[in-house]
Amino acid sequence: MICSNLENRGGTLFFGDSDTTALIQKYGSPLYVMDEARIRRNCRVYVDALQTYLGKTARPLYASKAASFKRIYEIVREEGMGIDVVSCGEIYTAYKAGFPLVHAYFHSNNKTDEDIAFAMEYGVGYFVADNAEELNAINRIAGERGMEQKVLLRLTPGIDPHTYAAVATGNVDSKFGSAIETGQAEEITAYALSLPNVHLAGFHCHVGSQVFDSDVFLRASDIMLSFIAGIKAKYGYLAEELDLGGGYGVRYVESDPTIDIAENIAQVAARLKARAAELNIPLPAIRMEPGRSIVADAGLTLYRVGTIKKIPGYKNYVSVDGGMTDNPRYALYRSAYTVLLANKLDEPCDFPCSVVGRNCESGDILQENVSLPASVTRDDVLAVLTTGAYNYAMASNYNRVARLPVVMVNGGADYLAVRRESLDDIVRNDV
Ligand SMILES: *Cc1c(COP(=O)(O)O)cnc(C)c1O
Repeated sequence: MICSNLENRGGTLFFGDSDTTALIQKYGSPLYVMDEARIRRNCRVYVDALQTYLGKTARPLYASKAASFKRIYEIVREEGMGIDVVSCGEIYTAYKAGFPLVHAYFHSNNKTDEDIAFAMEYGVGYFVADNAEELNAINRIAGERGMEQKVLLRLTPGIDPHTYAAVATGNVDSKFGSAIETGQAEEITAYALSLPNVHLAGFHCHVGSQVFDSDVFLRASDIMLSFIAGIKAKYGYLAEELDLGGGYGVRYVESDPTIDIAENIAQVAARLKARAAELNIPLPAIRMEPGRSIVADAGLTLYRVGTIKKIPGYKNYVSVDGGMTDNPRYALYRSAYTVLLANKLDEPCDFPCSVVGRNCESGDILQENVSLPASVTRDDVLAVLTTGAYNYAMASNYNRVARLPVVMVNGGADYLAVRRESLDDIVRNDV
């Protein structure tokens, strides 16, 4: 199967050594399931590769927008990772999980004054400033609080990551960051260096997401180090940290390519060292910010099948008891997913259909052109694989549908990490 933590045992889908049909019995439907062992394994790929090839100062940060809830922050902390956060909500969740926020990096292209003050109040270690207005606000608010704030500047290296447009961020024409090519990156660097309450700690770039092209991080490394050397020559400023962002791709369907992340990090490390030597600068401490590749294949979603509609001469629809409210990614990007009947893995899949949700929207589709066993019927368990990233995180209460719980499995054991929303949760803020 698509990931080594999935198994067919007598026609039933097991995930992280747990029987998925038993999980849906126990916790109800629909349900997100996440495999703790797999999350830890994914973290270790980064921690081990970065430290092996780039030394003890190198550190991966978990881009927590991929999946943010308290238990995840505990796990990544135990694995020795920092975090990247993009909102007060993520900062607060990490804080409530006891995460040491000195190792948090605060992103977003538009931090309000309230966001900035909140993050400073909670002791967020680093801000990643996107633009000059934001830098100005950080400097002003740090000054009011009588402190100096560590800041990385988000730059755009002008690389096309060969991924889909909605998640490409490294081009010059982007709402994120300052472009090196146009001189704006240098301008904002000089400005940051002039601000009394900003401590410029270094530079950041994030080229895109779902990246399989092993050249992308090599090119970003070259461009960013050349920029750092240029700044050193001109301003005498040496970056302490270089954050290369996230974006390694994961496999959603069998036809997706694979990328060996540890091997790619080894190549990136070799390139960084060679380039720094050529440019005659010390190598900054390296950061990477994986999100998807930490949690995506550590998750799946279980649903109960409901209505099956056969429209002769057109197509077949299989409806499930969730949909765009728990996974909007097909509606947003036409994202491919592997779909299985978890209780009928041994039956041939010869029934072509679209798997659709229960929400009042024609676009509420989980996947089209799927093949399921022809015996598919009400109450079968349908599994959508690789939903650990950007599913729970993107869930909504559209149609006043309650958000699903997150159940963790770990070597055959299971426990609740996020409770299912109740109807009272749904009306909680209505006055
Ligand atoms: C989204 C994002 C990431 C994580 O990207 P993945 O594709 O999930 O690895 C990292 N850094 C920044 C700045 C991001 O916006």
